[in-house]
Parts: sequence; structure tokens; C-alpha cells
Amino acid sequence: MPFESPFSESTDKMTKALRSTRVLTSAGLGPACVLVDGERIADVCAWDALPPGVDRVDFGDAVLLPGMVDTHVHINEPGRTEWEGFDTATQAAAVGGVTTLVDMPLNCIPETVDVPSLEEKRKAAQGKAWVDWAAWGGIVRGNADAIERMARAGLPGFKCFLIHSGIDGFAWVDEADLRLALAKLRETGLPLLAHAEIADPVDAATNRLNQAGADWRKYSTYLASRPDAAEVDAIALLIRLAEEFRTPIHIVHLSSTKALPSLALARDRGVPISVETCAHYLCFASEEIPDGATEFKCAPPVRDAANREALWNALDSGLIEMVTTDHSPCLPQMKRREEGRWDQGWGGISSLGLALPAMWTAMQRRGLKLERIGEWMAAAPARLAGFAGRKGAILPGADADFAVFDPDAKWTVTSPDLHFRHKLSPYLGAELHGRVIATWLRGEPVFSDGDFAGVARGREMVRS
Ligand SMILES: [Zn+2]
Repeated sequence: MPFESPFSESTDKMTKALRSTRVLTSAGLGPACVLVDGERIADVCAWDALPPGVDRVDFGDAVLLPGMVDTHVHINEPGRTEWEGFDTATQAAAVGGVTTLVDMPLNCIPETVDVPSLEEKRKAAQGKAWVDWAAWGGIVRGNADAIERMARAGLPGFKCFLIHSGIDGFAWVDEADLRLALAKLRETGLPLLAHAEIADPVDAATNRLNQAGADWRKYSTYLASRPDAAEVDAIALLIRLAEEFRTPIHIVHLSSTKALPSLALARDRGVPISVETCAHYLCFASEEIPDGATEFKCAPPVRDAANREALWNALDSGLIEMVTTDHSPCLPQMKRREEGRWDQGWGGISSLGLALPAMWTAMQRRGLKLERIGEWMAAAPARLAGFAGRKGAILPGADADFAVFDPDAKWTVTSPDLHFRHKLSPYLGAELHGRVIATWLRGEPVFSDGDFAGVARGREMVRS
């Protein structure tokens, strides 16, 4: 399904020429000049092929990347705006070079599970979005009949949980519910995103730990309570259903690499199944997480260093296609940092705006080239949400969205560097390589040299 063009058509006049010695295009990283006509990229030409009479913006040797696309963000507005809202989330995105984000349907009130709740979200976003955004719809027990109407209302796809979501109003689904939903989804062609853990292995492990009097301040206890089997079993079910229904299913935030062999076999058979992991699974390891440090709590959990390296290998080989943040904040007191009990603190890591330098820092240690970021954090997530051609790549016809990145900057993350609502993040104190100098949204800067530029002009990406 193509996207509507909600903006006015721009004039013939070539308005701007952005150039750098390092522009990321389909040809790789090299000198180029990007011609911007109004809100869109008109052409990509040689570095010295500046047409006459254009405004020239020269970024020197700074890297011109496509605006990053983060398809896994919990904005929480309306309803839990005190956790996070459109203004703070999208400002954090802009500072981090993210020009498009897609909101998860569960933490807002009402949850985005029908058309009226989507309309409330649209109202809540009015005038507050600094970058472009879209909303995933929710699939919960009993709402299969709303899927078609939500699809017609312009959502790019749907998200479900196979285990308790942490939000009582967002009921998890079992195989019978999934079958009802997939039959409807197949008609729309839209993807189903799934939180791939099932409850039985988690419940059994948790009971065993409680009976043994486990110490819930220890990270090792939390890790043991969310065993690999919860992911492996959930993914086996999702592969089976994607194969049977021949409709796309996307595994969000894969942590366990024990599920990779079955995913590889499914991909070889042509099963329409895609996979993301998150920056925190690639940057952290369970051995390094202090006991009681619940700012690291997320589900599925961060696993050990060997698992982390296997995730990198799967990303490098293309089996894992993309990297998102799963930015999922809450009120700071809900992390229960003082008690430090992993069973009581809210699960969710705050990281919006940090993924680009965090990934680049970790990539350099592994000898991976910066150009890989474009596929992992822009082009592949843009395809998942159906935004290919408009978002996630520097090419003619796409929105003129850019992240201007200095890959050589070195800095330490402090509280003032965080622009999301609550400054609690496992990345605080991290020493990172690379920093976003400027972010452009549809032909104009929204962030430049440490300041926001203009007004909040982010728009919803709506499927027609
Ligand atoms: Zn999430």
C-alpha cells in the first residue's frame, strides 16, 4: 500500500544542496551532494556538481546518514504522559538523529486497540511531535474484529504479546487468538509484531526460584527467571503460524540466540518472518550488570556475553535484520531502585537518542563499518513499517531526513544529555564514540549544535 503525501507539492525551485565528503547512499559512504527540493530529496549527485543558485549547506567531513527509523518506542501518551510523552520522546529522538519513530500500543490509556483510541492518540500528538511518527495497533484477546477498521484508519501494522505485557488493559494472546487475528491480518497485508516469550517457562522458573528462596536483588536471579526456552518456544509457534497463514510476522527485541537456528531454517523455507534486536542486547552483558541495578531491567532480559556476540554475528550475517531501542520508560520510583529487587521493578530500558553512538561504539570494537548502520537502523525498519522509498535512505524521492554524525567525537553520557522525560538509563556514565551534530526533518533542521530548531512539525505517517 502506498503512502499518502499529506504535504503540499513543492515548487520546481531546487532549494538546497547538502554536501559532505561522507554521504551514505546505496553506493556506500563517499563524497556527494544531496539536492533537496522542499521536503524531499530531488537528486544525489557528485560532490562538486553544485547547481547554480541554490543554498549550499556544507557539512565538511561529517557523515551524512539517512534519518534513523526506530520502530520500537513506547511514547505512553495519552494517559501515562507522566512516564513519557510526545514532546520529550520526539525531542530525544531528534537529538539522536532519529527522524521517524513508531509507537507501541500498550502503555497509553486508552491502549491503541481500536479506531477511537487511535483518534485519541492522534489528538494527543497534535503540535507536540518533533519528528515524524506512526502508531502500531494492538492485537489483544477479543479485538480481531477491529483489525480491518484499524488497518483502514492508516496503521502500518499490529503488535501483540504472548505473555503478560505488564499492562492489565493489554491482554496477551494465545494460539487461538492469534489464529483469529492472522486470518484478518492476511487480508490487510500488514505485519504482526510479536513479543516472543511465552508464559509457561517463565512461570515455572519463577516458582522454582521462589521455592528455593532466591535473592531477587541478584541479576542472575532475574536472568534465570526468563529462560531462553520462553523465547525459543514462542518463536517456534510464530514460525509455524507465519508459514501456515503466509502473512508477515516480525519478532521484536530478540534476546536469545538459541532461537536463531530455527529462524534461519524458516527463512530458508521462505517463511515470512523477520527479526529485530535492540541496542541494549548488543551493548550490555549479564556478567556486567550490577545486582540491584534495575535500570537494566527489560524483558526478555540481557543475556551473557557469549549470547551478545552471537547476536552480533546474526546481525552481521543478515539473519537479524534490524536494531531498535525498545525505549520503554516509566516513573523513576517504579524502577524500585532503592530495594533493587528485579521482580518488583518495572521492566523497560530508557535509551531513545543514544542508539546511534552506542551502536557505533560497539561496532568499532568488532571492526564493523559505519555504513552498516544505514541498513540496520534506517532502511530495514522503514521497510517493516511500509515506509520504504519515503524514509530510511538517502535517495531521490525520499523525505529529506538526515542525521549528521561526527563518528570521531568522544563523550560521556550525563543526565543533561538525556532528553526523554526521566533521566534514568543504563547508558548514564557510558563512554561513547560518535555524536549527532544535527538532525534534519523533511528539508529543515530540527536539531543543530545542541539546540532544537524551529517548531514541532512532526507528522503522522499514514497508510492509504
Ligand atoms: Zn517494547
